Amino acid sequence: MSSSESILNKYELIIGLEVHAQLATNTKIFSSDPAHFGAEPNQHTSPVSLGLPGALPKINEQVVVFAIKMGLATHCNINLVNRFDRKNYFYADLPKGYQITQDELPICQGGYIKLIAKDKSERKIRINRIHMEEDAGKSLHDKDDTYSLIDLNRAGVPLIEIVSEPDIRSAEEAGACLAEIRKLVKYLGICDGNMEEGSLRCDANISVRLKGEKAFGNRCEVKNLNSIRNLQRAINFEFQRQVGLVEAGEKVEQNTLNFDSATGVTLALRSKEMAYDYRYFPEPDLPPLHLTKEWIAGLKKELPELPESRMQRYTGQYKLSEYDASILTSEREIADYFEAVVKHTTSYKASANWMIGPIQSYLNETGKTIGDFPIPTATLATVISLVDKGMINNTAAVQQVFPALIQNPKIDVMTLVQQMNLLIDTNNDDLGKYINEAISTYPDKVKEYHTGKKGVLGLFMGEIMRLSKGKIDPKTANKLVVEKLESLK
Ligand code: ADP
Ligand code: MG
Repeated sequence: MSSSESILNKYELIIGLEVHAQLATNTKIFSSDPAHFGAEPNQHTSPVSLGLPGALPKINEQVVVFAIKMGLATHCNINLVNRFDRKNYFYADLPKGYQITQDELPICQGGYIKLIAKDKSERKIRINRIHMEEDAGKSLHDKDDTYSLIDLNRAGVPLIEIVSEPDIRSAEEAGACLAEIRKLVKYLGICDGNMEEGSLRCDANISVRLKGEKAFGNRCEVKNLNSIRNLQRAINFEFQRQVGLVEAGEKVEQNTLNFDSATGVTLALRSKEMAYDYRYFPEPDLPPLHLTKEWIAGLKKELPELPESRMQRYTGQYKLSEYDASILTSEREIADYFEAVVKHTTSYKASANWMIGPIQSYLNETGKTIGDFPIPTATLATVISLVDKGMINNTAAVQQVFPALIQNPKIDVMTLVQQMNLLIDTNNDDLGKYINEAISTYPDKVKEYHTGKKGVLGLFMGEIMRLSKGKIDPKTANKLVVEKLESLK
């Protein structure tokens, strides 16, 4: 261990995340402007999002529904009375001169996100709050030589902000927490989770302290991390930087930082002395929200089954490994496809193998999502059961039937398998012939087998498969070849 490593080892990281998720509503949070991305600049605007005098905001009910769903999915309390506040600051892409957000009385408080580490230990990262707010517009600094340009299409697009307690203790855990949030918003269908396009953005509050110490150190806040990898790089950089300062007897200044992904370095944006005074006060143009328990109970019923519960079902009911279950539940659409397959077959493990193996490779290679995957679930289940019954062999199913079905997904599987001449004849008359041929090709290997080298069996099986063009049942072949070899002793 190098000396710098042993110094780092004396310290521990304290991290709290603030995650902004752009909500997938049709319209903006306080007006009927379209909320989606991709229009010509300043087309999605109206007096409300332009901040014209006298224009009044009106809450979009869908935003409240989405915020509550995220709160329920993360075990939060929903505040039946909650309200909006003004956060005042000056910036060119904020036409009103304030952002409408929630400060003292957010819609959700006090939940948690459960993380399962590689060693299977469980950690709960507490959530301080989830609140609703509006996004600002966008300043474009590189489109014109003289001026910065402003696009207000994004002004008023709804966001929820999820604020964790400072419970996270490593870059790895921070990454897992952000990944879990991303998975949840996508499961709930409230945000597309796309970090590159900025639909999901993460700020990380980071401090260090000597292990065993109770008090937290001064924290820095790294803004706008646009990927899980960059979140982790920023944390690791800050860990070294802050430990370096403390070891040198200097103080960590409470700063807002930017992360430069090209160099992997954080840079000060503004220091605490320059911190804004936001002069929060209750938004006078919007009445507080009064929600009922019954309404929230109704929303709870609308929630899809969440990954945590599916994980339990997959490892319990389907007897899958945690690894398989975690991959299958990583995306709701993948899990839904898998569940549709196992409605037709009880070969859970084989179905999982198809999802994680050939289907995932196909999706990776083509850049498609499971939503575009052409093979109907019942068709895949038929292929799986043909393999199960020993009517086609698994290699032929993966290498020949699967690509043929992708080309022609509507075809009847039995017809296809017959056309491709892949049906195994369980009383294959030629099997004996192939076995004899394989054995006579490798007399030396037969001797090796008889001296106890059972490994050569693989060679005979490979040869038999080759000769039969995959049309024999491997189990039967294996049994017969062993019998034959034993009989030659
Ligand atoms: P503020 O009101 O200044 O924004 P908060 O108390 O709301 O501060 O915390 C903002 C975020 O910073 C939260 O995610 C919280 O978990 C995190 N945080 C607070 N103190 C620390 C600390 N000492 N080290 C790391 N993160 C912290
Ligand atoms: Mg705060």
